[in-house]
Amino acid sequence: MTTEAFFKCDETIPERAIHIAVKGPGGCQRSDGSDCFIASNIATTPGDMTERGCTYAGCRGVVGGPVKDVIQLTHGPIGCAFFSWGYRPHLADSDFHMKYTFVTDMDETNIVFGGEKRLLKCIIEAAQEFPDAKGVFIYNTCSTALIGDDGKDVAKEAAKIIGKPVVFFDCEGFRGVSQSAGHHVGNETIFKELVGSVEPEGDFSRAINIVGDYNIKNDMRTFEPLFEALGLRILTRFTGNVSVDEIKIMHKASLNVVHCARSATYIADMMKSKYGTPYIDVTLFGIKAMSKALRDTAAFFGLEQRAEEVIEQELAKIMPKIEYYRQRLQGKKIFIYQGAPRAWHWIELLRELGMETIAAATTFGHKDDYEKIFNRIQEGAVIVDNPNVPEIEEILKVRRPDLFISGNKEKYVAYKLGVPFVNGHTYDTGPYAGFSGMLNFARDIDKALHSPVWELLKAQGRPVPGTSVAH
Ligand code: SF4
Repeated sequence: MTTEAFFKCDETIPERAIHIAVKGPGGCQRSDGSDCFIASNIATTPGDMTERGCTYAGCRGVVGGPVKDVIQLTHGPIGCAFFSWGYRPHLADSDFHMKYTFVTDMDETNIVFGGEKRLLKCIIEAAQEFPDAKGVFIYNTCSTALIGDDGKDVAKEAAKIIGKPVVFFDCEGFRGVSQSAGHHVGNETIFKELVGSVEPEGDFSRAINIVGDYNIKNDMRTFEPLFEALGLRILTRFTGNVSVDEIKIMHKASLNVVHCARSATYIADMMKSKYGTPYIDVTLFGIKAMSKALRDTAAFFGLEQRAEEVIEQELAKIMPKIEYYRQRLQGKKIFIYQGAPRAWHWIELLRELGMETIAAATTFGHKDDYEKIFNRIQEGAVIVDNPNVPEIEEILKVRRPDLFISGNKEKYVAYKLGVPFVNGHTYDTGPYAGFSGMLNFARDIDKALHSPVWELLKAQGRPVPGTSVAH
């Protein structure tokens, strides 16, 4: 094993070597010279400036948080709940879940004497203040787990008092190595506590669930009408724009269509094992992938002909504009850094627009995410697991992509280094899914790349997109 760090910034942290790889002609090679696969989903090295979130963040922010008609209650200090309010644009047709956040606001006295009474009081008070809420989701945090509060027991007692479901998530921040563990806890808890708790009558032979889409900036509006045009009914969305009552009946669907394979395959697997519900994995971004998703779903129901008609109609609408953008974007080099699946979802979409991904990174990807990245990305590209901030800066400075697609945390680093940026995490505009969303994506990339500001920088002799700078 070589001790030479792949990134200059990692000279003092050789543990990072196993998390970095380059795609070579014979497959992948890790930056330590071995041909083993990239290490992922393991604990961050102490001292490493990771951008990961905690288990609570994954459960509260991603899986439970989008459920639109429940009281979203954090059991912990106010600090844990700070970013639980109005940050993720998982839109719905009502805004209760976006407008309000609830926290037990544990202080030192509660930590010393226990927080169970306080939790019960908060649940009852919140339920009285918001009588239209259909239930309460409680998220555990590090401090309340460490003092041993029995939130599950409190939830049972509270459910009897308020007469509505009260669901407790064991998602204390330290439970896993990243927010990915919180997705798992969220899936398991919702499945055990809610799915199948109501048995509705009716015909569900053409009902599907969209699993693992969180409706960021209305992504669902771009693809739901296409599934409906096949003649299918969308029963439950797990968990974008969904009510707690819809979750209770999701076991009645004939097929689960899984979009985010990282955060939601858990519930699809549990439904397959308990109810025999089959599932298919899809990507709902880009022309080829969206078409394949419609074809695969249609094939399950024997609706192949209808899928071809829908695809033809939709492509006729977008292709002239896609051609326009392809000419403007041709040859551009991209660095994608996302939570996990979007890093592989978007490699092909960008290629369809004439661009190549030269670097891809994920915050909490697992082995299967990296396999998909390796299969899709071009030779010579660098792949990084759980990148730290200096590594991101080094990629931007040395590899000098024409565009960085990442999240809000990285936006200003990109701008400071003169690299055009598109927010692929929460979208500044969007939506980006489906056929029509791809046009929005292409428009935003075009705007970022061709902003007049880059000419101003050039005039000042400062680094501009696509030119490397001193390391
Ligand atoms: S790591 Fe623990 S203390 Fe920090 S936000 Fe997450 S739950 Fe709260």
